[in-house]
Amino acid sequence: MAAILTIIYLLASITFIIGLKMLAHPSRARRGNLIAAAGMAVAIAGTIFLYRDGAGNGLQNYTWIFSGLIIGGIAGVVAARSVKMTAMPEMVSLFNGMGGACAALISVVEFDHLVDSLQTLPGLTVIDAAFQTDLRQRLLIIIAGLVIGSISFAGSLVAWAKLSGKIRDFIFRGQHTFNIILLGVIFCMAVFLIVRLPPGGIELFYLILGLSLLYGIFFVLPIGGADMPVVISLLNSFTGIAAACGGFLYNNKAMLTGGILVGAAGTLLTILMCKAMNRSLLNVLVGAFGNSHKSVGESRERGIYKEIALSDAAMVMNYAQKIIIVPGYGLAVAQAQHTCHELEKLLETRGVQVTYAIHPVAGRMPGHMNVLLAEADVSYDKLQEMEQANDEFSSTDVVLVLGANDVVNPAAKNDPSSPIYGMPVLNVELAKTVIVNKRSMKPGYAGIENELFFQPGTSMLFGDAREVLQELIGEIKEL
Ligand code: NDP
Repeated sequence: MAAILTIIYLLASITFIIGLKMLAHPSRARRGNLIAAAGMAVAIAGTIFLYRDGAGNGLQNYTWIFSGLIIGGIAGVVAARSVKMTAMPEMVSLFNGMGGACAALISVVEFDHLVDSLQTLPGLTVIDAAFQTDLRQRLLIIIAGLVIGSISFAGSLVAWAKLSGKIRDFIFRGQHTFNIILLGVIFCMAVFLIVRLPPGGIELFYLILGLSLLYGIFFVLPIGGADMPVVISLLNSFTGIAAACGGFLYNNKAMLTGGILVGAAGTLLTILMCKAMNRSLLNVLVGAFGNSHKSVGESRERGIYKEIALSDAAMVMNYAQKIIIVPGYGLAVAQAQHTCHELEKLLETRGVQVTYAIHPVAGRMPGHMNVLLAEADVSYDKLQEMEQANDEFSSTDVVLVLGANDVVNPAAKNDPSSPIYGMPVLNVELAKTVIVNKRSMKPGYAGIENELFFQPGTSMLFGDAREVLQELIGEIKEL
């Protein structure tokens, strides 16, 4: 039985690796996801039915297991099926938080078992040193899973509330020092508990849990401006590492591989995001950046913006040679990806070369624009990464900015007081003409004004992205 289970875990681990590899390309991502999910399903079924402990006993609490599986499965399917594309980032944050909560709960249960098992043993003074070392290692993993899992849970809930607009960035004087002290206290308490060893210290264990939850909240609360993407991918890697701790505890290879893969992928993504956003990882870890200190009310008036009529926009685009579309969060809000693809095809029949410039943090989750455009079957070859697109703008006739704002804001380059200062942006202003579609002059996620809208080469085309695109298509067809 144990050998079959080992093979199942090995196969599951292989499916995770294949799945992750396939996620790297939009055309294979869906299949990769299904392959990894199938591997996970087999690993779960194998654990439920084939697992045997040292005494040869299998799992017995089937009612609890299947109740959890059914309730969780139904809730997951319903949530994933009914979620709107715009609410996807929030859902991903929430699901990530649930992973963290599971890892923390595993630590709570295993700590309980550890304390119970020690209470049946004589005093620790008579337990041999090797057993104590073993115990300390186990406790270290339990506490690591507890701390990392609860930070991920609480942090992801705050990220979910911020992304869905339920709460705003919050910072108080000395918050960063407070965060560092809190982290230091958690660390010292954990070391003390590991050195002292249970059965005492139960209160301390739950205090560590409470403080870790608090840290998770205070760690994410001040993050704002353009820095949320880094924190989201960091929380993702925390959940993976916390799950890997569970894999260590249960000596479960599938859980270990899955956790390590998520942890490693999340960490790599965090590093890439940091690079893309020009931030340092250390600053992210202490939550010491990103609080937007310039609100909408404080934004300076930059001048007068110019509007373009729909028919003029259609004319300019129809007779252009090269157009770059810059999609942003507003495209997802308007669900205009299909209409956008239609416009792209129409322009190409008129001999216009059309590509898309993808900023790494456009939208509200890593890869948001790639997912959105893949859904509309936009060819992957048409997507240009930021660096590539930045080389192209100066030779571009028209840039059509569709519901993007922060990712094309020149303040990131020339206003040191801006919360997005230092973040690389798309240099769309280098193109001959920039047409910006959004519904109003309201700011984007970072809450700051965009001087691009007031530049001489820029024209505003107000309206919901889908409606505007539909009308543009109609106008171009008339030409
Ligand atoms: P922004 O949030 O900066 O701007 C989106 C713009 O879309 C708004 O200015 C809005 O203007 C417009 N808009 C909204 N609805 C519509 C609609 N129906 N039709 C047309 N326009 C619409 O988005 P960007 O993609 O430029 O930048 C992403 C921001 O989100 C960055 O600051 C990034 O740091 C942050 N972020 C990104 C995450 C990620 O992982 N990608 C995660 C968390 C945050 P108006 O209301 O006037 O229409």
